[in-house]
Amino acid sequence: MHIAIVDSSRVVLKLIAGLLEPRGHVVELFTDSSEALDYLAKQPSVRALITSLEVRPISGLELCWSSRLIGDANRPLSIIVMSSTRCTHTLAEALDSGADDFIEKPPSAEELHARLRAAERLTTMQAALIRLAETDPLTGLMNRRAFMSRAHDAVTHAGTSGNLAAVLLDIDHFKRINDAHGHDIGDEVIKAVATLISGRGIAGRLGGEEFSLLLPEHDLDKAMVVAERLRRRALGLRIPAEKGPVKLSCSFGVSTWRDGDTVDGLLKRADVALYEAKTTGRDRVVASGMERLLSKAS
Ligand code: GH3
Ligand code: MG
Ligand code: MG
Repeated sequence: MHIAIVDSSRVVLKLIAGLLEPRGHVVELFTDSSEALDYLAKQPSVRALITSLEVRPISGLELCWSSRLIGDANRPLSIIVMSSTRCTHTLAEALDSGADDFIEKPPSAEELHARLRAAERLTTMQAALIRLAETDPLTGLMNRRAFMSRAHDAVTHAGTSGNLAAVLLDIDHFKRINDAHGHDIGDEVIKAVATLISGRGIAGRLGGEEFSLLLPEHDLDKAMVVAERLRRRALGLRIPAEKGPVKLSCSFGVSTWRDGDTVDGLLKRADVALYEAKTTGRDRVVASGMERLLSKAS
């Protein structure tokens, strides 16, 4: 387990590290509690924080509070407080401040390992629940909620670094595939399209047979190339079925990040472009902004 340990004494830190490292734990030692908090915020792989209550510049209780906020619903984290006084009031205060467990300082090897086994059980279960809550069970892609959350993170980044594109895609006449071949084959079609987009950028299944792809560092031209390639690959798919291989096509809408934009705005423009792709014949890629030009031309 990746563990951050905070104590004002290097001797105590070394002692605990000496107990944990031989068991394969990866430990990071801090005498400064605010440095520990920064590290925790930047390193999602840290699964446990062991902190003394007597630390500075932020107190152990405050560190518990702030770490609890970092280890929110989207991140597994076990917080263990260490104190040389086993006073009931201190214990209650630590638990109320967000700690999960309490250990005497200096800890005995046996107790420390047992507490960490409990922490590992808890965080493993938490991680599994988070994965379940974020994953679309049919395709393994992010579900809408997780996709939107990742999209918000991505646009925070785009705000400073520039290019970001969104591609929305929807399987054409999917209802007909369900009607002709049954729901199970429909599911196979959805899975096949998901496979095409998974691993590219930030990919999610927004619902039914509609998918979304966020492409960081992509301007419109690059995103159009990606979408066009996906369109051709979708067209080339053959899903085995009793009545013979099922063919399909997808329609695409592409939009790019603008100054002052929002995730909703970006996706809305891709959706308008996708609608245009549907109404002008399907099996095509339409760029946001181009849909009005197309409408005028027709
Ligand atoms: P269009 O080209 O305009 O997108 O037409 P469409 O038939 O693809 O779209 P429509 O929205 O009319 O139908 C989508 C269908 O997808 C309706 C719904 O029953 C089906 N569907 C939604 N989720 C699933 C799923 O998980 N599995 C299967 N097999 N079908 C699904
Ligand atoms: Mg459809
Ligand atoms: Mg649809």
